[in-house]
Amino acid sequence: MEKRTFLRSSLLLVTAAFSQPSKLWSATPNPSFDVTDEEADEQTTGPFTLPALGFATDALEPNIDKMTMEIHHDRHHQAYVNNLNKAVVNTPFAAMTIDQIMANVKESDTAIRNNGGGHFNHSLYWTLLTPKGSNAPTGELAKKIDAKFGSFDKFKEAMSAEGVGRFGSGWAWLCVGKGGELVLMSTPNQDNPLMKNIVKKQFAHPILGIDVWEHAYYLKYQNKRADYLKAFWNVLNWDEVGKQYDMAKAKM
Ligand code: MN
Repeated sequence: MEKRTFLRSSLLLVTAAFSQPSKLWSATPNPSFDVTDEEADEQTTGPFTLPALGFATDALEPNIDKMTMEIHHDRHHQAYVNNLNKAVVNTPFAAMTIDQIMANVKESDTAIRNNGGGHFNHSLYWTLLTPKGSNAPTGELAKKIDAKFGSFDKFKEAMSAEGVGRFGSGWAWLCVGKGGELVLMSTPNQDNPLMKNIVKKQFAHPILGIDVWEHAYYLKYQNKRADYLKAFWNVLNWDEVGKQYDMAKAKM
C-alpha cells in the first residue's frame, strides 16, 4: 500500500472508532470494565430500585471520601439497578426477589449475574457502613471469630489478606457456611457466595462484604488497596454484621 493511502485509511479507521464508541465498546460487555454514564443516566422502570444511603455522602470522611461515595452509590450502583431491570424483562427473573435471583442465576445468565450481583452486593455494603457504631463484634459472633481466627486482630488481618489477594475486581467476604461455621473467601467481579450454581461448594451466606473494585477506593487511595482496607474497619458497623450473622445462622 502506498504510504499516503495507508495514512488516509488509518485516519478513517481512527475517525470511525471515535465516532461510534458505543458500538465498539458495548458489543462484548466485559464484567471487569466499569459502568458508563449512559448506563447510570438511563431511566428504567422495573422491579429493582436504588436503596437510599442511611447517611450523608461525606459522613465517612476521612476514611471514605464524599466523591467516592457519590459516584459509587449514585452512578455505579444505579447503573447495576438499571441494567438489571433491563436484563430481567421477559425472563423468569422478573418475578423473583434479589435473593431468589442469587439462588437461581447461572453462569450463562451473564447480564443477570453481573448486575444482579452488583445490586445485591452493594445493597449489603451500604448497610454495613456507618459514621458511628460498634467497632468490634459482640456476643456469639465475637466468640466465633476468636475461636476461628485466634483473635479479632488476626481475623482483620486474614480478611484484609483476602481483599488484597483478590486479583482484579471483586469482593472479600465473611460468611456463615455449613454447620454455622464462619468462612472467609473472595469472589471475582460481582459474584457472591449466594450464587450457588456459580460458586458451587463455596455456597455460604455472606454477613460482611468488602468491595475491592478500584471504584470503591481509587480517588482517595489510588493503587494502595491495603490502605483502603485498613480504613474500612473504621467505618464498619459491627451491630449490622451481628444482625446479618443471626439471620444467616438461621438459614444454615
Ligand atoms: Mn462497588
